[in-house]
Amino acid sequence: MAEVKKIKTVCRNCHGACGVIAHVKAGKVVKVEGDPDSPISRGTMCTKGLAVTQLAYHPDRVIHPMKKVNGNWQRITWDEALETIANTFQAVIDEYGPEHIVVGQGTGRDYESHLYRFANLLGTPNVLTAGHMCYVSRVSTSLITCGNLPVVDYEGEPKCIVMWACNPLWTNPDEYTAENFYRAFKKGAKLISIDPRKSFYAGKADLWLQLRPGTDGALAFGFHHVIIEEELYEKDFVQNHVHGWDAFKERVLQDYPLEKVQEITWIDKELIRKAARLYATTKPAAIHWGVPTEQTINCADCTRTMIGLMGISGNLDAPGANALFVNPPTRTVAEFARHKDLSKEVIAKRLGGEQFKLGARVAFINPKKAWDSILYGEPYQLKAGLLCGTNPVVSRANAREVYAALQKLEFLVVIDHFMTPTAELADIFLPAGTWLEQNHVADNWKRHGYVFARQKCVEIGEAWQDHKIFLELGKRIHNIVDMPRVLAIAIVKNGKLVYEAYSPYVQRNTLHWLASITKGGVVSDNAANIPPV
Ligand code: SF4
Repeated sequence: MAEVKKIKTVCRNCHGACGVIAHVKAGKVVKVEGDPDSPISRGTMCTKGLAVTQLAYHPDRVIHPMKKVNGNWQRITWDEALETIANTFQAVIDEYGPEHIVVGQGTGRDYESHLYRFANLLGTPNVLTAGHMCYVSRVSTSLITCGNLPVVDYEGEPKCIVMWACNPLWTNPDEYTAENFYRAFKKGAKLISIDPRKSFYAGKADLWLQLRPGTDGALAFGFHHVIIEEELYEKDFVQNHVHGWDAFKERVLQDYPLEKVQEITWIDKELIRKAARLYATTKPAAIHWGVPTEQTINCADCTRTMIGLMGISGNLDAPGANALFVNPPTRTVAEFARHKDLSKEVIAKRLGGEQFKLGARVAFINPKKAWDSILYGEPYQLKAGLLCGTNPVVSRANAREVYAALQKLEFLVVIDHFMTPTAELADIFLPAGTWLEQNHVADNWKRHGYVFARQKCVEIGEAWQDHKIFLELGKRIHNIVDMPRVLAIAIVKNGKLVYEAYSPYVQRNTLHWLASITKGGVVSDNAANIPPV
């Protein structure tokens, strides 16, 4: 009977990075379970993560490179696929310029640093992501407001949690899993739920504020009103860190009386007062915020107003409150991707860059600008595209327009697990491995402060992990001369790492913990010398 081998790895079915023990028998993953040693999931996994074997071994999965010939898909070799893409991209670069190629991804599945490096070295400033409607507006607004995204420091044990537009039972942002929240909640943290629906935790909350969807910013002003009126704010913080406090105070008191906030948000003004008091007087208190706060037309201002609440209540960058994440000694996505390599002239060609400045600042374009470029040649016409882990035909606004645009693109490559409606429009399909099929320094830039080892458990068909696809493709395009030769190595500063040698949980470095195991980026005592990249 075949022996069952247990391999420690890390889930990537969402942004949670839960620790996993994969059971491998006769070259197949037969089961996954939570790894009790994981510092962020402690043996737990959600149903989505547990279902990875259904994803990996799904009969509809495409596990070989394919090309479309006369409208029909034909299996081809990796060599043929990569050569075709490299030659076509090179021809576009030579005839029109690299900005005529758009590179795109969906929600980051931990390959974004490689995708961006590929795009930057290709020389195109046109990268599509899901960031305009998910998470990145919050991150980029946080960067210009207080330097980094404030996240809940669950390890510091908050005593009051404001669950704002988030349902951790079903879904997770980048930084923490439901398990983190649940531990704090079980220990008796007060819970304020802000949710239009009575979710499971809204039902268990001390206060449930049934918000009219899209009015989060007004509610945040209501909280400010109470905190200012009742002088519950931290005077030292306000004096030393807030610019324009007097004008802000006057505006909030004058323009946002609770009666008006009640009218906008549909929440009883006395309930708003109670919630603001509870948040401002229980220390430490943290706002656990979700994506809906940024899926509104005033998301940047809403984010700034919420950060303001954290600041004036003494809960910004404080243990157990909203912490400012400190990157472990690994390269950030921007460093690894070499954003700085793009010249000013190339950046000036970013589609919509002048109009969407905050998005351009974090190096992505608004999708509408890509569709306009393809369909109407405004301000110039995209000729080719490479989309990885994204299905814009069904996930972006105005499916009809997206479909028409992708159909019109002269050459399209899609990297995915399945032949999605978007992939059906492609010329070349490249099969991506699931997280069970990849070796990678996992989730190092996610704001939980850890670096993990995602270890390959199996190979399925001819699927490759996304990173390898970008590296191999990069090597074949002549102006991409310095894609790293070794997977993952370049992520660790000083470039020293041996996969087998380092423990799955090597790094902890949040607000009040310093790096312990790694020193200067060397992840293992046995690390081999690999040239820095
Ligand atoms: S929460 Fe996310 S990372 Fe954790 S098991 Fe579920 S899908 Fe995987």
